[in-house]
Amino acid sequence: MKKTKKQINVHAFTPIAKPINTSIQKNSTMLLLGEIPYVNGSKTFTTKLYYLKGLRGMLRHACMDLARAYDIEVCHSSEKTELRDGTKLVSQGFHPLGACDPPCILRRIFGTFREDSRISVSADPITSISHKEYITEVPVQKVHIASENRIALSYDRIPIQDFRQSYFSGYFTFSIDATQLTDDEIKFLLESLLHIEYYGGGRSAGYGHVKILNVELLHITIERKFESENGTLKVVEEEKVTPLELDTLDDWTESISLSALTQELELMDGE
Ligand SMILES: [Zn+2]
Repeated sequence: MKKTKKQINVHAFTPIAKPINTSIQKNSTMLLLGEIPYVNGSKTFTTKLYYLKGLRGMLRHACMDLARAYDIEVCHSSEKTELRDGTKLVSQGFHPLGACDPPCILRRIFGTFREDSRISVSADPITSISHKEYITEVPVQKVHIASENRIALSYDRIPIQDFRQSYFSGYFTFSIDATQLTDDEIKFLLESLLHIEYYGGGRSAGYGHVKILNVELLHITIERKFESENGTLKVVEEEKVTPLELDTLDDWTESISLSALTQELELMDGE
């Protein structure tokens, strides 16, 4: 088996973020995945893994911001235009999800409820390991993870609710599989990364600041084969990584806003 893929690795830092996954009554905690062993010196310890949820949503928002900055109309996250009480759901610069023909840049990348996304966003699970040196069998991202107990006070400083929230702090990396995208779509996605500022919940309370530090553009060839070992067929994987070369990064605007313009012209023709 041999396949090639285009991958964007994004390295970021957050002083404190709350990727809220599950809410159990008053408590918002990160999604717990499982426990794995790790080795420090001659001793074996265990550590809990947590899932970084909401990365794709963060990226989608960044793309919406970028499209707005260039006056490119894109899909909103809702298929409906308004609620029963008349509240408008789709603001200026957006159309209802999936209402575009031809599909706008956001739909081409992220799909709709019915159409698959052409990218996938993933990250190795995060974990808190107190040892400086450690070896794990599966890839993990070492960060600081903690829970805080918070108390909501009323104006007269009487506790009205106490709740617990988990957060993490540190450097983290996520990857975008962009194999199905054209070069211009990849460039659009790259520029959208400059619009990322927040991740997770609690933004108004000062949580979730994210700084994107650097980005790797990779062309990866993966080859998998069996190797016989005493009657067992072991799967051996070989990965070859080379930089993905893109020429000038900012020339996507022409093809992508042009497709938006064609859309407008076609609409006018139809009238
Ligand atoms: Zn659209």
